[in-house]
Parts: sequence; structure tokens; C-alpha cells
Amino acid sequence: ALVLGIESSCDETAVALYHTTDGLLGEALHSQIDLHAAYGGVVPELASRDHVRRLPGLLAELSHKTGRTLADVDAVAYTAGPGLVGALLAGASLAAGLAQGADLPLIPVHHMEGHLLAPVLSEPELDFPFVALLVSGGHTMLVACHALGRYELLGQSLDDAAGEAFDKTAQLLGLDYPGGPALAHLAAQGTPGRFTLPRPLTRQRGLDFSFSGLKTAVANQLAKVSDVQDHPDLAADFELAVVETLSTKCRWALEATGMSRLLIAGGVAANTRLRAALQTLCEAQGAHFFVPSAALCTDNASMIAHVGALRLADAQRSGAPVRARWPLSELSAPRGAAHA
Ligand code: ATP
Ligand code: MG
Ligand code: FE
Repeated sequence: ALVLGIESSCDETAVALYHTTDGLLGEALHSQIDLHAAYGGVVPELASRDHVRRLPGLLAELSHKTGRTLADVDAVAYTAGPGLVGALLAGASLAAGLAQGADLPLIPVHHMEGHLLAPVLSEPELDFPFVALLVSGGHTMLVACHALGRYELLGQSLDDAAGEAFDKTAQLLGLDYPGGPALAHLAAQGTPGRFTLPRPLTRQRGLDFSFSGLKTAVANQLAKVSDVQDHPDLAADFELAVVETLSTKCRWALEATGMSRLLIAGGVAANTRLRAALQTLCEAQGAHFFVPSAALCTDNASMIAHVGALRLADAQRSGAPVRARWPLSELSAPRGAAHA
């Protein structure tokens, strides 16, 4: 079956085609970074309108790239949440319209399940069970993944998400939005070890995270340094603090679950230092490490079409609901799947 995936939960507009046996056929994506840059963050109303404006052109581009048309599509999968409700509605409305017009089934997809299973797109041999570290702009979670749709939350951020901490710290350092990649770039020019920054919530063996204090610690250090030349070193220490904290918790999660596979996903998984640290951790723990290519870490429609293909059994004939908030643990196995 050929599944069209539509992503519009935040500031990326994207469509992709995934075939259940042939795999990914192609994707067309537009990032709204330039649109929101002047405001230092995503403006929901601008995001919604831009999704509406871009989606038709992206569909045409996808068709051009893959040589497939709507007539070849068997089901339409769209991001139903979590995300900005107006932005979600733009994708959901298109999905509903296409499905009704071409008499196709609709599959509502959980955005974080998309991120979670994105590594499978580049590493088909990846199998359950595994521990997943989901680190994105809005989420930081450790999840024990037992089977498709059976996700057990081990820990999550009590305040800022990891990506949010990168973005806010980048803003403190005067870097442009989106701050994560800019901060990582600055950190690469610095040397860590000069500044003492906390490793939040690592004194006790818990799996929850807290990153807002780390951001404050950077602000305090920043007030003491006067030279701009100190910024790369401070950025390097911030990045190291986040990476070491995430790495410690991943080790504990592997030990607590007895699982031998670790996967990272979400935008922050694009971070080179984090990838290297977790690779080293897994080698030391005798675990297998899975990470998607950078393009599959940040928001995309390939991951949505992919989950749609795995959840064809959940397809519905009408209604394209969206949910701004949607806990991953509320998901279940696809309809009709055997209980694991
Ligand atoms: P969510 O998926 O939780 O709804 P989102 O979709 O906005 O949030 P993603 O697109 O998955 O999040 O990831 C974006 C985040 O990843 C941003 O916070 C960005 O700064 C961060 N990020 C991207 N690349 C890097 C990098 N190289 N280093 C650190 N952070 C990064
Ligand atoms: Mg984004
Ligand atoms: Fe995302």
C-alpha cells in the first residue's frame, strides 16, 4: 500500500510517500525558519497560515519527485497531535479533503510516535524492545518501547525540554533562532571545562529531567564574563552538561529495563556531541545504538507516512481529529494486532 504522510504540527510543512514494501519514495518539505526568525520563536498564527499556503505546492513537488499522483495513493496519514492546534488543523483539513475527494482512508498519527520510529527508516533491522530517548523542541522523554503502540514512559522533563534549553541558552548568547544548531556550531569553536555547570537531577537515580536551572546557570556565568571570546567556551560547557546528563540517564534506563538497544530521536538527536557520547555509552554497555540521519531527526513527513503505513489497520473513513496535547502512553497497538 502507498501512504501519503502530511506533517504540519509546528513550523515545518511537509508531505511524503511511503510504500509498505518499497519503503520511502520521497518527501517535499518547507521550513518556516525564516518566517519566524524575526520574532525569535514560532508565531502560531503565522505558522497555520503558511502551512495552508505551502501544502498544495509541496504536494505538486512530491508528485514531480516521485512520479506518483493521488490516484496511486491508498491511504492518507496526517499528524493529529501533539502540536499547535491551528497548525495541525491545516494538515488535517488537507488530509480530510483528499481522503473524501479520492475516497481514501485516513490515519491520524501521533507526532512523537513518528519521531520515535524514524530510526527504523534508516535501520530496518531495528526491532522491539528498545529504550528511546526522545529529545525535541517540546519534549524530553525516556521511553521503554515494548511493541508498536506499547510505550512505557520512564522519565520526562519536569520543566524545559532539551531543545527548548538549547534554544533559550542560544538566545542568552545572542544567537539567532533556531538556537540549537547555532549553539552547537559555536560550541564546536570552544573548549569545555572552564565553567562549572550543574548536571541536573543526577544525584539520585531518577529518570526525570530538569533543564531550566542549567539555562539559569549559564545566565549567571554570562553575567561574570566580559569577553565575547568566552562565549564559545560557555556554549561548549552548556552542551557538555546537557549531553552528560542525557547520557547518564540513558545508562540508567538501559540498566533499569535490562534492554540492550538504545535509540535517539527528535531534533536534538541531530546534535553531533550527543550522538558521539551515546555511541560510546552503548559500546561500553554492550548495547546497540540506533540514530536516524539528521534530516529524519527534525520534523518531517517521512516519519508520519511511515507510522501511517504501520497503522493502516487504524484507518478511518471520516473525521480528521486533532489534539494539541496527547500523551504517548495513551497509544495502543494497531487495531487487530496480536497482544505482545
Ligand atoms: P516536538 O517534536 O516536541 O513537538 P519540535 O517538533 O519543535 O518539537 P523538533 O523539530 O523535533 O522539535 O526539533 C527541534 C529542536 O531541535 C529545536 O529545539 C532545535 O534547537 C533542536 N536542534 C536541532 N538541531 C540541533 C543540534 N544540532 N543541537 C542541538 N539542538 C538541536
Ligand atoms: Mg520545527
Ligand atoms: Fe517534532
